[in-house]
Amino acid sequence: MINIRIDDYPFCLPNQDPDQAEVWLREMFEVLSRWPAHYYFGAIPYHCDTRWIALADECMRDNGHLVMHGFTHRHDYDGFDRDLQPGGEFEGMTMTEARLRYLASFDVLQTSARFDRDHFIAPFNRYNENLLAAIDTKYIHTCDKEYNALGYAALNHYGTKPIVGNLYKDYGFASRVLKYINTPGTVRPEWVTLHWYYEFRHFGSGWLKDLNALCKECSRE
Ligand SMILES: [Zn+2]
Repeated sequence: MINIRIDDYPFCLPNQDPDQAEVWLREMFEVLSRWPAHYYFGAIPYHCDTRWIALADECMRDNGHLVMHGFTHRHDYDGFDRDLQPGGEFEGMTMTEARLRYLASFDVLQTSARFDRDHFIAPFNRYNENLLAAIDTKYIHTCDKEYNALGYAALNHYGTKPIVGNLYKDYGFASRVLKYINTPGTVRPEWVTLHWYYEFRHFGSGWLKDLNALCKECSRE
């Protein structure tokens, strides 16, 4: 089976309408619950108040996981996706600051029965050594675009294993990822990566058909 990474739970943008997000997330959970493939929602602790923890616990079956996706994803920063430094959200943080934020974020997410502490998804696919020194996770998720351009292979990962997506191959819209997997000669990846908000924005609920097809493919043994 192929694992499905889905970034940005519950929101992608700092000012997203929470009621609309909940409608879309419920539709997505319904599709994801039809198939055995495991999916991992990158949850932003800054937003995960009791409403979103309860929603995940209500809607996720055993194949669903909430994993830490940064601390605030810079959603507390005006122009959160501009002025990105190589370390992304963690640029300029000492190891101690990163550790304290990690522990506070852990406290938020561990209130969910679906929290999986083994994975950390780096916001904007960016991280640095102080973050790696501060977290207690087996895996950190990123993308080859950042991993290669920013020289992450040279970082001391302190035993945390990077899982690196391949942009526009196993990392992108569900329809595109599915097409990639089904291209003759493609080695089946262990992970695929989606960003739910962008798909809903582009395709509306029509996207769920693509998600369902991808879940079916990912569920093959
Ligand atoms: Zn994100």
